[in-house]
Amino acid sequence: MVEILQGIHQVDGVNANSYLVFEEDGSLTLIDTGMSKDGKKILNYIQTNLSKKPSDLKTIIITHSHVDHIRGAYSVKKSTGAKVVIHTLDADYLSGDKKMPLPKGGVGFLFRILSPFFKSTPVKAEQKVNEGDKIGRLVIVHTPGHTPGSISVYDPQNRLIFVGDTIRYSKGKIEGPPKQFTPDMAEANKSITKISKFDFEILLGGHGDPLKQNGAQKVKDFAMTLQ
Ligand SMILES: [Zn+2]
Ligand SMILES: [Zn+2]
Repeated sequence: MVEILQGIHQVDGVNANSYLVFEEDGSLTLIDTGMSKDGKKILNYIQTNLSKKPSDLKTIIITHSHVDHIRGAYSVKKSTGAKVVIHTLDADYLSGDKKMPLPKGGVGFLFRILSPFFKSTPVKAEQKVNEGDKIGRLVIVHTPGHTPGSISVYDPQNRLIFVGDTIRYSKGKIEGPPKQFTPDMAEANKSITKISKFDFEILLGGHGDPLKQNGAQKVKDFAMTLQ
């Protein structure tokens, strides 16, 4: 069980990272869903570690439509009845109406060969969101570049921000998104600067470790190196 702070959990063993947030009314919001087998781990975490019912999960927020963040969505939605929320510009990838552009260079070639293994069951989002929309107290921040509809999710009450793959904190170091999976690095860099202007202590990314202290300042320092 990984409680980042009171009411904010990271579901252990799920990759990409997946987080559970308690709302004021005791219901739950999930941020990202990991791979297909991770759906079970998320449900198990809700029931065993949080002593909640699957139906207490009301909302699933997807930071962006990459397989490692969306594959668990189908099964979690099915067993909880939660509504799925995604940015307008990534919704068609989640529903399978559009194909995500392949990564550049050698990785793209590898993806083409492996593509049958990277399919995910299409999911139709109940709610498409845009900059400034709110899910409970959580604020949607559009942070494109890694994908067109990549979002960060800001929790002002806890001074905490979920950033998906736009920023990674790993081994004590901040990095931008992986270049070969990021079609628009210039846009991604702008998004990093945008994130640095929020008031937060804790930064939680789709990969790597939680950044637990002085998050905004550390991201500001990193953003300076991008100019
Ligand atoms: Zn990604
Ligand atoms: Zn990822």
